[in-house]
Amino acid sequence: MKEKLHCPRCKNKKIIDYGDTFDCPLCNLEFEKKDFELFDDESDILAIEEKVEIVKVLKTNSEKKNEHTNRILD
Ligand SMILES: [Zn+2]
Repeated sequence: MKEKLHCPRCKNKKIIDYGDTFDCPLCNLEFEKKDFELFDDESDILAIEEKVEIVKVLKTNSEKKNEHTNRILD
């Protein structure tokens, strides 16, 4: 059994439970509970806010790549 949920960043245990996710009021970050099962090292766990940023970057990169491919095809 895992220890009580806590913030992977500041180790704060006074988190706000949303069911599938929880919020750390100190870091102002939201984490997904399933990530604690996925990662052995909790420093690998990303906040939802950070995941959104990564998705944005990946999307921008793949759009750039598509632009480039389209230019070659023209
Ligand atoms: Zn925290």
